[in-house]
Amino acid sequence: MSELISGKAIGTSINDELRKEVEQLKSNGIEPCLAVVLVGKDPASEVYVRNKKRTCTEIGIHSIGHDLPASTTQEDLENLIQSLNDDSEVHGILCQFPLPKGLDETRIIQAISPDKDVDGLHPLNAGLIAMGQPKFISCTPFGVLQMLKRSGISTSGKNTVVLGRSNLVGRPIATLLSSKGWDATVTVCHSRTANLSQVTSQADILVAAIGIAEFVKAEMVKPGAVVIDVGINRIDDPSKKSGSRMVGDVAFKEVEEKVSYITPVPGGVGPMTIAMLMANTINAARWLNGMPEMNL
Ligand code: NAD
Repeated sequence: MSELISGKAIGTSINDELRKEVEQLKSNGIEPCLAVVLVGKDPASEVYVRNKKRTCTEIGIHSIGHDLPASTTQEDLENLIQSLNDDSEVHGILCQFPLPKGLDETRIIQAISPDKDVDGLHPLNAGLIAMGQPKFISCTPFGVLQMLKRSGISTSGKNTVVLGRSNLVGRPIATLLSSKGWDATVTVCHSRTANLSQVTSQADILVAAIGIAEFVKAEMVKPGAVVIDVGINRIDDPSKKSGSRMVGDVAFKEVEEKVSYITPVPGGVGPMTIAMLMANTINAARWLNGMPEMNL
């Protein structure tokens, strides 16, 4: 039987630490402020943005919402980003993706000042991760690192396999875990990887971030492995009122019997992501005021 790594519990205790940190900053005249830009009316994005703003309020971070119509032009959006870059009261800028058709996300990522890039997606911040000198780390990879650290799981010298190579999740996780301090031996797998099960079954630590419901089966994991499930997938379930339920990229029931640690879905990596957005916003406020980053 495995031990559950609860992102809900770890995220809550990080949020408690962050609340104290914000109080401290406020007593020094600094109020961390996050600008949240939402374009259009995508229902999932509206829920994400609402949750992010609510957590800001809970922690004491000032959030400013900019809700724009789907008809917004690239130029209008870039002008808004530029005005937020120039606003000294704003420390972090988040533009919720996906953007409506016709808007160029890559250009928006590059328009956000790297000093206010709390999503950690700007090429400069991705480059710093690649150089082993991370500044802003994108929120989900940052959350995965905190889960490992706070569960006392050593990554040094561990054979680690990351499933997925996206810029948002798989690639930064793999780069960070192989960097100094984390010192894992990392293999990145993707949709063209040959003999995938053979590779995954060698992993002491397996991170799944591919977006395919319950893809990782028991026979693909090493006995005693640590399994981090980043996936969020909705599958049909007629027994639920909504007719569906959320599952990860790992077949949880069969895999949990075989491994030492596993993250659940929901309640695993998901709740960590917003906590790390809050941490990035506070760090942005600290850095912009000449202070070092927080100890987390
Ligand atoms: P993505 O679609 O951008 O990337 C998926 C990656 O998986 C690609 O690199 C692809 O090569 C790889 N892949 C696809 N099929 C594969 C296969 N059969 N075998 C091996 N590799 C395969 O997705 P993403 O943005 O990286 O997200 C991955 C998952 O994580 C999704 O379920 C997403 O919803 C979830 N996610 C969760 C959070 C969170 O807060 N928990 C945040 C972001 C993403």
